[in-house]
Amino acid sequence: MKQENCVFCKIINHEIPSAKVYEDENILAFLDISQVTEGHTLVIPKKHCKDIFELDEQTLAQVFQAVKKIAGKMQENLEVDGINLVNNNGKNAGQEVFHYHVHLIPRYGKGDGYLAVWKTNSSKYTPGILQRIAEKINPEMQK
Ligand code: 5GP
Ligand code: ZN
Repeated sequence: MKQENCVFCKIINHEIPSAKVYEDENILAFLDISQVTEGHTLVIPKKHCKDIFELDEQTLAQVFQAVKKIAGKMQENLEVDGINLVNNNGKNAGQEVFHYHVHLIPRYGKGDGYLAVWKTNSSKYTPGILQRIAEKINPEMQK
């Protein structure tokens, strides 16, 4: 289950300290050291899985049940003005730690430190092009 040289497996096994936010049999949540905004939390399965492609559906459901609980606690106990969920899969998507994790980034308004650049290309995509892309992703989903 444990992967040697995995920093998050080391956190699970108390070889590296962390500020815990939530724990149950299958899941651990702790503060991200970078604290992009105050309260920035990582939710991980205790079972080592690299990314969304490796993760089984049951474990993914357990991760998101914990995400939901922690989001509620943040809303209750921090002065949040929204929460971003971020999950990077693969090096080119910005993943740096290859043990599946979801970031909860509490938001406190403009200038709170969280920057996500999101450029729209909607003018280049007609309904026909969009339909073809959708069918490429899932050929079973015919209109
Ligand atoms: P990724 O880029 O893989 O989505 O995010 C990895 C995150 O893990 C980064 O935000 C980074 O700050 C965090 N991180 C890396 N090493 C440690 C550590 O030893 N302890 C904690 N709490 N967070 C870590
Ligand atoms: Zn691991």
